[in-house]
Amino acid sequence: MYFIANWKMYGGLKTLNSLNKVISFSKSNLKNKSKIVYCPPFTLISSLSQKLKNTYIDVGAQNCHESQKYASLTGQVNSNMLKESGAKFVILGHSENRIIGEENNLINKKIKSSLKAGLKVILCIGETLKEKKKYKTTKVLKNQINNCLNGIKKSSKIFIAYEPVWAIGTGHIPKLDDLKENILFIKNILKNNSVKVLYGGSVNSKNITDLKKIELIDGFLIGGESRYPKKFIDIIKKTYN
Ligand code: PEP
Repeated sequence: MYFIANWKMYGGLKTLNSLNKVISFSKSNLKNKSKIVYCPPFTLISSLSQKLKNTYIDVGAQNCHESQKYASLTGQVNSNMLKESGAKFVILGHSENRIIGEENNLINKKIKSSLKAGLKVILCIGETLKEKKKYKTTKVLKNQINNCLNGIKKSSKIFIAYEPVWAIGTGHIPKLDDLKENILFIKNILKNNSVKVLYGGSVNSKNITDLKKIELIDGFLIGGESRYPKKFIDIIKKTYN
């Protein structure tokens, strides 16, 4: 199982000390059973990678620019720079970036550059509430997968995070039957067992008891709740108990 923490625009150097609890929990309880990946803002990737050396926890980034070469792009960071800072993963296609204009063909370029840089990619897909209400979910998911992964070999370096946009940060999660159906739909499109499929959207230490019943899910992408070590540990513990 994978537990990916998406810190979004949260955290400073002092925040990193709060992870000592998670580090000791993972050392004594998890070992190779699960993988935890923390995705902090760019500013913390290097310090967090140093802190997590010799632990079972990896570091990821939350986005990157598609160009791998030096370019006059003020404020941008590319996949090679992430890799050099210690990131092993990168989240791409998050709905919070799609909303501000990131489209599937751009995400496709970002995935290609990230894989070339040696990063593992967590590709976020998911329908909006409007699309759900119009029964367009499967069409949207298929379109996002096919376009974002166009020309890319499906492998264990790709993770799909199914995140219904309407479930992110709202406290609402899909009905379990719908979720199971959509995860199965995604797995059927991928036709490759080495691509892991995660669920994200308002995961917390209460609803995990229901979510974990869907055995097809290979892990969780956790936003808000991942800022609190105790809650994050609780989610992991309850996944197994
Ligand atoms: C996310 O933004 O990827 C996410 C899953 O957020 P939250 O858990 O806060 O809904």
